[in-house]
Amino acid sequence: MIGIFGGTFDPVHIGHLRPVLEVFQDLALDEVRLIPCHVPPHRTAPVASPMQRLAMLETAIQGEPGLRVDDRELRRAGPSYTVDTLTSLRAELGSAPLCLLLGMDAFTGLNTWHRWRDLITLAHIIVMHRPGLLPPTQGEVATLLAERRTDNTALLRAHPAGHILLKEVTQLDISATRIRTLVKEGKSARYLLPDSVLDMIKKERVYS
Ligand code: ATP
Repeated sequence: MIGIFGGTFDPVHIGHLRPVLEVFQDLALDEVRLIPCHVPPHRTAPVASPMQRLAMLETAIQGEPGLRVDDRELRRAGPSYTVDTLTSLRAELGSAPLCLLLGMDAFTGLNTWHRWRDLITLAHIIVMHRPGLLPPTQGEVATLLAERRTDNTALLRAHPAGHILLKEVTQLDISATRIRTLVKEGKSARYLLPDSVLDMIKKERVYS
């Protein structure tokens, strides 16, 4: 069973990496693929270039065998729709179980995503808690959660897609926005992200 975790990663930080590693370990996944998006449909363009975001991810996961970077969205023109990414992975994986990892903020806004109802037919959804955010209790995403929620990882393994699991992870109140602001203001962002990523940011003056 593999996991995928998409984002702008502008830059990747330990608020991404630690929760993903915990999901990898606790769900005994075979691997988690980190997938940087090319053109994010929901937000303004990233500050770092696609190649810089990819390089920062590559250096961040050095020496961590469970994590891999998958650049398929960067190779695809146009907006990076997760439904397209899942469809292309599904074509490779056949009926093997596939888990889409999302932070709670991303999950809460799921009904704004392109063809959002198809996502759960293509993958399971693993929602990682994020500081200050609770699961939705009203609206379409809450209804989907009520219908599909499970705590049983064996059920995830037994089906290719279709279930939602809420996962407690170490709560790290870190965002890429805050890191970009710190760097821009000439303050230190150390310990919020891997040193190797920070070194790259400084050397290439990515956010200065
Ligand atoms: P930005 O501050 O630029 O909006 P971000 O730090 O939120 O960026 P993204 O690359 O947009 O990071 O997020 C990708 C995914 O990572 C989303 O599913 C998001 O919910 C999740 N995520 C980001 N930061 C955290 C965190 N601190 N804890 C848990 N999940 C997180």
